[in-house]
Amino acid sequence: MPELPEVEITARRLSEGLAGARIESALAPGMVTMKTFEPPLDALAGQDLDAVRRLGKMLVVEAGGLVLLVHLMSAGRLQLYDKPASPRDRSSRLLVRIEDGRELRLREFGTQQRAWAKLMPAGELEGDESVATLGPDAYPVPPLEQFAGLLDEPRHLHPLLRDQRVIAGIGRSWVDEILWSARLSPFQRASDLEPEAVARLRDACQSVLGSVLEHYERVIGPTVPDKLPMPLAVHRRQGEPCPRCGTKLEAIHFKDYVMSYCPQEQTGGRVLKDRRLSRLLK
Ligand SMILES: [Zn+2]
Repeated sequence: MPELPEVEITARRLSEGLAGARIESALAPGMVTMKTFEPPLDALAGQDLDAVRRLGKMLVVEAGGLVLLVHLMSAGRLQLYDKPASPRDRSSRLLVRIEDGRELRLREFGTQQRAWAKLMPAGELEGDESVATLGPDAYPVPPLEQFAGLLDEPRHLHPLLRDQRVIAGIGRSWVDEILWSARLSPFQRASDLEPEAVARLRDACQSVLGSVLEHYERVIGPTVPDKLPMPLAVHRRQGEPCPRCGTKLEAIHFKDYVMSYCPQEQTGGRVLKDRRLSRLLK
């Protein structure tokens, strides 16, 4: 589940690895991967790969006057390989061949095809719907006044912080870590937060995302592995002792994700109802 730190380290490593590379050809074995058709994908042929950068949880591959905007969704990876993919590799979604024989490859695990890409002139990027609707980036965290303004909504913190239109880059893993770090309940209503708690949450956002990035810079070599060594303290660690106070961590299971927290420090000692259980008991 690549979020801001995972996408950022991917962009940094790809930028380093692709410096000076020229594209030979590009094709999309993923039938539904390309969401744009004009310019055609082969307009990338002959272009220099200038840089790869991150926008929220998306990647932007800059090539000449064109940009390839890539969303990895939950199971995609964009990596650089020494050799072209085997035609039988069913995880291939998008292949960008480099003149020196290497290949920039978008792969996706599992049977679903949800990762997507758009090719457009660089000047159209800012106006693209998926970019224009992004809130300010979560890292570096916005200044306090702006951050407080983003939170001034009567919504629970957990979904609010994951809403890319509010603040860009945070997903289901790092939101748990940020809320635990700030000692705030995932169900706290954002607009009810005291100014002191807003400042604490902002600090947590900056320090959690910053330290994860530092961790990745230390442990990840030139190639970003399929499975990143995520330094998680609470997310998916329910049943284990809280690393700070020793209380048993709890979790609420939703249809396709889990929300983990420390009841002692985040919910006033209350263990929240697990919706999975309460549904079964209805
Ligand atoms: Zn605790």
